[in-house]
Amino acid sequence: MNQATEQGTLFVISAPSGAGKTSLVSEMLRNDSRLGVSISHTTRAMREGEQDGVNYHFVSRDSFEAMIARGDFLEHADVFGNYYGTSQVWVRETLAKGQDVILEIDWQGAQQVRRLMPDCVGIFIVPPSAEILRERLTGRGTDAPEVVERRLLEAREECRHAVEFDYLVVNDVFENALTDLLAIVRSQRLSMNRQRNRHGELLSGLMAAD
Ligand code: 5GP
Repeated sequence: MNQATEQGTLFVISAPSGAGKTSLVSEMLRNDSRLGVSISHTTRAMREGEQDGVNYHFVSRDSFEAMIARGDFLEHADVFGNYYGTSQVWVRETLAKGQDVILEIDWQGAQQVRRLMPDCVGIFIVPPSAEILRERLTGRGTDAPEVVERRLLEAREECRHAVEFDYLVVNDVFENALTDLLAIVRSQRLSMNRQRNRHGELLSGLMAAD
């Protein structure tokens, strides 16, 4: 059997902040036990409600740079002044076990992964309109105008890379976006590449003379 097609599928999911990516990915994991998500390393400060080893592995810049030097990352990027990176070993081992893996990463990381693993499936999630994005990023109006402006600039920069992905999901109604994402995962599992290995005997039997 061809080893490459027995591997799990790698899904790379990117979005501007405010698109609902993290909530959608959590629901995907709850709905599909064959999906796993990579927990990234980051040098950014932990936010309220986050847990080390759950949301991210929170590390110092020194540790992160040592990991870069050791080649520990499949990809890494400087996003808004902080480092973020994906563990090479975890992703490769998990895929090798046949489990599908989601990477929630930015467009820079997605470009690196696409080069290294061209079979990965890229999904870009967007909010339904620029106004709604602005509303979501403006929050309750408690942030300084320059902070909001920076977030908007970063979101626009992320969106400029949407066309580099294989799929576009619009998060207007959460349940619909979730259904779309799960449908993308399912369609990959049904692709001929994967199915012909699983159902090789069936296909041979159907083609053989009685
Ligand atoms: P946040 O700090 O809000 O959790 O994430 C900021 C941005 O960093 C998001 O666009 C997120 O997708 C991205 N990000 C999170 N983990 C990684 C990673 O491992 N690699 C890359 N390249 N980006 C990441």
